Amino acid sequence: MEKREELYRGKAKSVYTTDDADRLILLFRNDTSAFDGKRIEQLDRKGMVNNKFNAFIMQKLEEAGIPTQFDKLLGDNECLVKKLEMIPVECVVRNYAAGSLVKRLGIEEGTKLNPYTFELFLKDDAKGDPFINESHVVAFGWGTAEQLVRMKELSLKVNEVLSKLFDDAGLLLVDFKLEFGVFHGQIVLGDEFSPDGCRLWDKETRKKMDKDRFRQGLGDVIEAYEEVAKRLGVPL
Ligand code: ADP
Ligand code: UDP
Repeated sequence: MEKREELYRGKAKSVYTTDDADRLILLFRNDTSAFDGKRIEQLDRKGMVNNKFNAFIMQKLEEAGIPTQFDKLLGDNECLVKKLEMIPVECVVRNYAAGSLVKRLGIEEGTKLNPYTFELFLKDDAKGDPFINESHVVAFGWGTAEQLVRMKELSLKVNEVLSKLFDDAGLLLVDFKLEFGVFHGQIVLGDEFSPDGCRLWDKETRKKMDKDRFRQGLGDVIEAYEEVAKRLGVPL
């Protein structure tokens, strides 16, 4: 697979075209951002850890019947993926209250949500990734009603599979964000699944093991990511 030019440089990853029009290379950088890109720092090893973590999770999801972009790892910081036409909507599933839900509704952090919640945000940093609902997605043409049904169905299936996987590793899957795209007419899971885009707490102590360590200045960010990887058995 030949890497061609940089198609897009995001906050944490760079996307490259390849000699196959249906495939892209994702390069996971060490850049770590918070607050819609207003704060950016370099964290040693982060690109490698997230690339391998994402590969491990995407393969688990594929095995569970969830269609993903993932093809194969290409090295420490790169993987080969299907080129999706991305839907500019972030799907967030929550099992416990944290983050923007706590701020928005004043729910106490850590409250168990029963059932889980499913939320949508527009992927638009300039607008601060605003909270939206399903009718906005259809009315503004970001996705169709059928695509939304499938995105929700797949998000809930991901929650089922990963809640169990993390539980077995002594971790609570508090919440997570997914992005989907279209590949040959089908909705497919894209972007990444890593501690950058989810919240993971130790089951016993509720210690934060995800990007909140960076957002909240708690320190030992990558050490926590590596601990999660170790507990899951991700080869680093
Ligand atoms: P951001 O755009 O939020 O700064 P990243 O730094 O992670 O995020 O950049 C990766 C970009 O690549 C995102 O815009 C994401 O939507 C896009 N992307 C991820 N996976 C795919 C894929 N399989 N096909 C096309 N685009 C993708
Ligand atoms: N999230 C993300 N990218 C975003 C916004 C949120 O990966 O642009 C993830 C975040 O890490 C958390 C979940 O989505 O796991 C829910 O985030 P929340 O709405 O609480 O927003 P936050 O306060 O974290 O910005």
